[in-house]
Amino acid sequence: MSTANFIKISDDFEGYDTASLSVPYHYENDLDKVIIPYGLIQDRIEKIAKDIVLDSFGEPITAVCILKGGYKFCSDLLDKINVVNRLQAKGSAPVKLEFVRIKSYVNEKSSGTVEIIDGASLDVKDKNVLVIEDIIDTGRTMKKLLNTLTSYNPKQVRVASLLLKRGTSLTGYKPDYCGFEIPDKFVVGYALDYNEYFRDLNHICVINENGIKKYSV
Ligand code: 5GP
Repeated sequence: MSTANFIKISDDFEGYDTASLSVPYHYENDLDKVIIPYGLIQDRIEKIAKDIVLDSFGEPITAVCILKGGYKFCSDLLDKINVVNRLQAKGSAPVKLEFVRIKSYVNEKSSGTVEIIDGASLDVKDKNVLVIEDIIDTGRTMKKLLNTLTSYNPKQVRVASLLLKRGTSLTGYKPDYCGFEIPDKFVVGYALDYNEYFRDLNHICVINENGIKKYSV
C-alpha cells in the first residue's frame, strides 16, 4: 500500500463542528468533532471500488464482511463494485459474500483478546478473498483473522480497511486498500460503535467525555 493510496487525516486536523453537519439529536452532546463526513467516505469508497475491480482482472471475489463494524463499509463498497462492474466493457469481477463476527473492544479499549465468532463455516477454499474491515488499530484482530483464513486454503487474500490508526500498530500490519489514515483517537459512526451506540450515525466522529460517560458499561 503506497501513501498515495489513502487520505491522511493529520493529527492537528480539528475536524468539523457537529452543528455544521447533520447529526442525530440523540448524539448532539456526545460528540467532539466530525472528522470524516459521510460524503467524503462515499467518494473515497468509490475510488477503492475501482482499484479493487482493476486489480481483480475479472477473477471472482469472495468478500468477507467483518461484523458488526464493517457492515456499512462492506455494503457501500460492494454497491460501488457493482457499479464499476456494470460500467466495465470487459473484466468485471463477480462477487460472493461471506460474514464473520469478531469482538475485541470493551468501552474504548482493546480487550486484548480477539474472539472470532462463526468463522468455521466460511467458504473461502481456493477463492480470491477480500476481507472488508472497518478499522485497523494494533493489527491484532487482522493478524488473527488472517491466520484463521489462511488455514482454510484460500487462493489469495486481500484486505480493505476503511480506517487505519496512525502509530498504533503492534504488528506492522498494513491493509492492501485503505480509506483514511487517522490520528490515534477513538472514533465512532458509520457502523463503528461505542458499546453498541453510534452505529446509527453516518459521519465518522470523535466521541467526547460526555458520550464516554453516558454509554460506558
Ligand atoms: P486491533 O485489533 O487492530 O487493535 O483493533 C481492531 C478492532 O478494534 C476493529 O475491528 C474495531 O472493532 C475496534 N476498534 C479499534 N479502534 C477503534 C476505534 O477508534 N473506534 C471503534 N469504534 N472501534 C475501534
